[in-house]
Amino acid sequence: MSSTSNHPAVRLQQISNHIATKKDTGMNKSADRILVEDDNLDHEYLPILGSNEFRFASAKLILGANSKAIAEGRVGAAQCISGTGAVYTGAHFLSKHYPIKGAACYISKPTWANHRAIFEGVGIPVLEYPYWDAATKGLDLKGMLSCMQSAPNGSIFLLHPCAHNPTGVDPTPEQWRQIADVMEAKGHFTFFDCAYQGFASGSLTKDAFSVRYFVDRGFELFVAQSFSKNFGLYSERAGNLTIVAKTPAVKNRIESQIAKAQRAVISNPPAYGSRIVSVVLNNEKLYSEWETNLASMANRIIDMRKALYDELVRLGTPGKWNHIVDQIGMFSFTGLTTPQVKVLKEKYHVYLTDNGRISMAGLNSQNVKYFAQAVDYVVR
Ligand code: PLP
Repeated sequence: MSSTSNHPAVRLQQISNHIATKKDTGMNKSADRILVEDDNLDHEYLPILGSNEFRFASAKLILGANSKAIAEGRVGAAQCISGTGAVYTGAHFLSKHYPIKGAACYISKPTWANHRAIFEGVGIPVLEYPYWDAATKGLDLKGMLSCMQSAPNGSIFLLHPCAHNPTGVDPTPEQWRQIADVMEAKGHFTFFDCAYQGFASGSLTKDAFSVRYFVDRGFELFVAQSFSKNFGLYSERAGNLTIVAKTPAVKNRIESQIAKAQRAVISNPPAYGSRIVSVVLNNEKLYSEWETNLASMANRIIDMRKALYDELVRLGTPGKWNHIVDQIGMFSFTGLTTPQVKVLKEKYHVYLTDNGRISMAGLNSQNVKYFAQAVDYVVR
């Protein structure tokens, strides 16, 4: 696709025309083709904070198109090296500029292993808040809230807005309200790590509930966003740190400090993955195709949860298994013990992490019965 104008509006119109003439072979492939054929694209550096199209489309995706905070000009963004880089960038900023010296970052117990490594790596002490209740195989809300209550005022709390990794257990909207009450009363800083928007419920809006709710209540916060899972862009490292500040002036100061730090670590972020995301987020047809893809992915996982649950009940497998259907997103914390996992691996060649976490995405209608039988064997 050649063009005489670089203006984004003209380019998007050309892209729409272009898509309308192409066979439908998947939204990432359509976006790929657009990029390959766009004569205006080159391999020049992106700006230090990344592509403006990408950063602001990402912020809009998580905060909502009608976000008051965006309209008030107090939302900033930095394109980062995927979700990991976005967590690192936010953590690094806090290590330099958080006003309460020595404040700890509280991470959920358990959490994605990199959280501890990233925060400790930038010199922020890391503590844990209770999250997984082994007895109910659900959320330990009481333990979580009481830890938030007793933490020193102004601590940093890292929260998973949806599809908690590794437990698959998310707070309900009512529980998020209770969490926000304590976070507000104690003046804690909220750092959301959002690696699965759209993957939990299949709805981008539902999965953003917690973040939007906190922003509506007036919290200043960071949101690390990853496009690895919801776009299948694992190796392209497309991520964003959305910054919600009290005022545009504070937002500008945060962005400029992040730009300074980013310059020293990566100079500027990689373009390709962010271009795919921008093309899809800024194009009505591809966006709606992406939403459909996400919903069918999420529903497939929900169906597999149900199939696994039904099969365990049919087999009369000892124990309660309702947590399999109550949990959400890609992962399920089965409650299987490390010795049971060992037998699953050695006898059945079913591979999962030693803490009993399975990737629900690995189950399908062909293997779910086999897996249920293997679980039945190891728990008896
Ligand atoms: N945060 C959480 C909770 C994750 O589960 C992951 C990936 O597994 C990430 C961040 C980072 O993903 P990436 O750096 O691949 O975008």
